[in-house]
Amino acid sequence: MPGSKVAVIGAGAMGAATAWQLTARGHDVVVFEQFERLHDRGSSHGSARVFRLAYPTAPWVQFAIEALTLWRDLEEDAGVSLLDQFGALDHGIPACTQSISDTLSAAGVSHEVLSQDAAQERFPGMKIDGQAVFHPQGGGVNATATVNSLLTVAESRGADFREREPVEHLTINSDSVVVHTANGSAEFDRVVVTAGSWVQKLIGASVDIGSTVVTQEQPATFQPTIDADWPAFIHYAPGPPKTNTLIDPVSHYGLPTPEGGFKIGEHHTGIIVDPDQRPDDADPARLARLQEHVQEWFPGLDSASAAVETCLYTTTPSTDFIIEAHGPVIVGGGFSGHGFKFVPRVGAALADLVEGKPAPRFH
Ligand SMILES: Cc1cc2nc3c(=O)[nH]c(=O)nc-3n(C[C@H](O)[C@H](O)[C@H](O)COP(=O)(O)OP(=O)(O)OC[C@H]3O[C@@H](n4cnc5c(N)ncnc54)[C@H](O)[C@@H]3O)c2cc1C
Repeated sequence: MPGSKVAVIGAGAMGAATAWQLTARGHDVVVFEQFERLHDRGSSHGSARVFRLAYPTAPWVQFAIEALTLWRDLEEDAGVSLLDQFGALDHGIPACTQSISDTLSAAGVSHEVLSQDAAQERFPGMKIDGQAVFHPQGGGVNATATVNSLLTVAESRGADFREREPVEHLTINSDSVVVHTANGSAEFDRVVVTAGSWVQKLIGASVDIGSTVVTQEQPATFQPTIDADWPAFIHYAPGPPKTNTLIDPVSHYGLPTPEGGFKIGEHHTGIIVDPDQRPDDADPARLARLQEHVQEWFPGLDSASAAVETCLYTTTPSTDFIIEAHGPVIVGGGFSGHGFKFVPRVGAALADLVEGKPAPRFH
């Protein structure tokens, strides 16, 4: 099927990664983006996203391992460094850290199980909650630089990138799709919908992808007050109340930023929003709650130095990803606040679906 005419809707990380993969495989690609290139109104902006192999189940660890190889391929294609492996720490609820260690062992991923004191000594800037699991393969990826690299390489291979051209609707035929924008209509062999928080608005009425909830999350970056080693981290703990009925033991996550700060966020506590009518300003009450958390858990950070940002999660009931084919419509969505580390692997999975290959399984 090389040489198919494929439309990719949405130039966030997942759409850009799909265009990168499709152009590498010889497909004729048009990428539609409603806003400007590298905008900050979706889910893929900013300089820091946690990369880790540590997941509680084997399929996710395997998916992360495969993503690691593709991150290096992307860096080679783009001639830039995107993934920095400074190590990642999981701490908190013993049952969670134990299953992380067991799953990493089963996958042959080298890691250390550290006592609270040993982890405390290694990372004096943060307070450690019980036994901790450290894996050196974890670290951080630069989100905006990643999207820019993916688009630049895809364009260099012939992708036609259309910014500020929102797709208004689709006409779905048995083996092709007509894409309609204000600039006209065009028929494609396949359409990949990677519209992030707008996915239900675009195809919810015509393609059943299950339910998703859009929340506006609000992490902040703080300045270190000590010279110490800092890992990426996941903290398993009860934490602040989750927005929807989601069962997720992760209370907070964070990592060092390329600019020298340390980003920390609550997980799934954002307000439910319509992506087109979201508040511009940060919520001072939630910022104050995060600063209190930093005062308690991060003695090596200045809680008053918060630089707050907002960003959208699109969450499925299980937090599993939607990577599905519905006839000629391929959907990549519902990345539930943990998709970035898998970006190049998701791009490959969506390109596989365009070529009629099977979707990855998470269970
Ligand atoms: C605060 C925060 C922290 C996170 N931290 C991490 C982390 O540490 N590690 C990790 O692995 N993941 C993390 N994530 C998750 C990760 O960032 C997302 O899973 C990922 O960015 C989702 O990318 P996307 O391409 O699906 O969405 P988006 O980047 O939102 O892309 C969708 C694009 O589609 C466009 N679009 C929508 N409708 C249309 C239309 N009709 N026509 C044309 N274009 C359209 C939008 O404008 C947008 O550009 C975090 C997310 C947030 C919000």
